[in-house]
Amino acid sequence: MDLSVKPHTAELISTAILDWYDENGRKSLPWQQERTAYKVWLSEVMLQQTQVATVIPYFEAFIDRFPTIEALAKAHIDEVLHLWTGLGYYARARNLHKCAQTITENYQGKFPEDQAALEALPGIGRSTAAAIIAQTFDKPAAILDGNVKRLLARLHCVPGWPGQSQTLKALWQLAEHYTPPTRCQAYTQAVMDMGAMVCTRRNPKCDLCPIEKWCAARSTASQHDFPNSKPKKTNPVRQSILFVLQTPDGNCLLLQRPPTGIWGGLWSLPDASETEGLLDALPHKYDAEKLEHKFSHFTLEAEIRICHLNKDQLRKLEQNIREERHRWYNPQQPDSIGLPGPIHKLLHR
Ligand code: SF4
Repeated sequence: MDLSVKPHTAELISTAILDWYDENGRKSLPWQQERTAYKVWLSEVMLQQTQVATVIPYFEAFIDRFPTIEALAKAHIDEVLHLWTGLGYYARARNLHKCAQTITENYQGKFPEDQAALEALPGIGRSTAAAIIAQTFDKPAAILDGNVKRLLARLHCVPGWPGQSQTLKALWQLAEHYTPPTRCQAYTQAVMDMGAMVCTRRNPKCDLCPIEKWCAARSTASQHDFPNSKPKKTNPVRQSILFVLQTPDGNCLLLQRPPTGIWGGLWSLPDASETEGLLDALPHKYDAEKLEHKFSHFTLEAEIRICHLNKDQLRKLEQNIREERHRWYNPQQPDSIGLPGPIHKLLHR
């Protein structure tokens, strides 16, 4: 691995990337129109682990409902989680809400322009902070999202998996080398677009790549070896029984998850361990379905028991409902609350 970059070469490469962007880059994304720090931040948080095409409708719904950071800060967390339903990694939505409140309270609704101050805010890491600085204020700041990691790892044949600290350190060093002192807003978008559109994960389009003549992986035909994949481990399986407790008029009982952890703060189905007192009221007959959902560190295999309650069972059940943790939800007339994606799909089927 050769991490040395002559300043002249760095300039040639960043200029080639910018020239490519001027002709081919994305300039009509919704967060690029009437650009503000709020829009850039929102899009950056949504784009973590998520593709642009998936993010666009979520971004538009958020901006429609919360046109300003103050509107987001004032919203109830349930409504924020509701608009996030299906986007996954719900800690992002909780941090988004906390961050909006912090900026409104401590910064009069204006994003700080300083990297350290941005990184101190909930849910904002080094790359997101840099993206806000470069994309909003057009100041030099190096970003390193998944697309940029791949491109730089190939450009210099950086060994290792980007989750390892040594590899990550090398990639940050390269990201800083190549970030130009001017046109930072365009360069940041350009380098992300290059990773997403040219130096793609499976079939990099090296023939169309403007930096192909400098690329170490291209010259050794080893594009597919970089970056190294995350070491494989078999995730454990957790088994669970979830209950759809349905009233004659189509309401289903939901239970709010604890504020942190899996599906934190979202409204989910009661499970066998959380239904103390409720289970006595359940009918012995039920319809069963299977649900499987992969989390980053385990797989959930759940048996779904669909219980149609009669009036007597409903009356018994209601005696054990705690208002602060339970609520009735009618998929035909859904409330604006956050449901985990798989539970939303199941109830709305
Ligand atoms: S030449 Fe190929 S592998 Fe190298 S940066 Fe360009 S697209 Fe990626």
